Amino acid sequence: MDLGIAGKWALVCGASKGLGLGCARALALEGVNVVMAARGAEALEAVAARLRAEWPPGAHNRILTVVADVTTEAGRGALFAVPGGPGRDFDIVITNAGGPPPGDFRTWSRDDWCRAIEANMLTPIELIKATVDGMAARGFGRIVNITSSAVKAPIDILGLSNGARSGLTGFVAGLARSGIAARGVTINNLLPGKFATDRLRATLQATADKVGQPLSAIEEAQRQQIPARRFGTPEEFGAVCAFICSVHAGYLNGQNLLLDGGLYPGTF
Ligand code: NAP
Repeated sequence: MDLGIAGKWALVCGASKGLGLGCARALALEGVNVVMAARGAEALEAVAARLRAEWPPGAHNRILTVVADVTTEAGRGALFAVPGGPGRDFDIVITNAGGPPPGDFRTWSRDDWCRAIEANMLTPIELIKATVDGMAARGFGRIVNITSSAVKAPIDILGLSNGARSGLTGFVAGLARSGIAARGVTINNLLPGKFATDRLRATLQATADKVGQPLSAIEEAQRQQIPARRFGTPEEFGAVCAFICSVHAGYLNGQNLLLDGGLYPGTF
């Protein structure tokens, strides 16, 4: 299926590994020009070089990189000032910025909460604010927020994530149904269940430490809870993200799409 987005410009945050990289790669392979952002320069440049080397012959879309902490105002400013990039005129924006640390709420300070809210609620909102009206003026836009299955089924040790992401989800639910919907712009949230990334490994390690079991035992126990009996891959995540960004998904708006191998037990 031709997704119909070749030549568009996408901003992918948190793109040097894991789910963000999966999204950047899937979009790039569709001929989308991609600006990839992360804080660590070395990993970012290495994966960008790898993506360029994967190029189908004859492809002429661009992959640009920007070393930036997207949770800061200066970092976000850098995203819109990438040499050769589209400025603020992105057609596709994938928001993502790592997840807050696991732990016990009794030990979290106000600063811990502010950092989580900054990264997982206010940063996506700032990125949307900077780009959405331009998308509407040009008649096409796709915003995908990488959130978490924790929005639907909270995870006890990820209280910072449960809280901050629910705030974003509420905001997006209203905005997606506002005037921008009639002007070709969709905003959806993509909710990962358990995907094989460094982030998942860190979360499982925290659980292993908490219960005093080896990491391998925790991993196997968690796999067995998933009807698919495996963790998802960043490639699968990226493919769904690219479809949501496609011309075919223009009627998909304001949704929370769970990708979890069937783990969530609800009918709806
Ligand atoms: P990951 O493998 O740790 O990758 C995170 C990526 O984001 C890296 O490229 C990282 O690079 C970048 N990043 C982190 N903080 C950043 C910042 N402030 N500014 C710019 N880039 C930043 O994580 P992941 O598994 O892909 O997870 C992505 C998101 O999905 C996270 O919010 C996570 O909580 C959520 N999630 C993941 C799962 C899962 O199973 N994997 C499940 C539920 C929710 P640098 O460190 O170099 O910046």
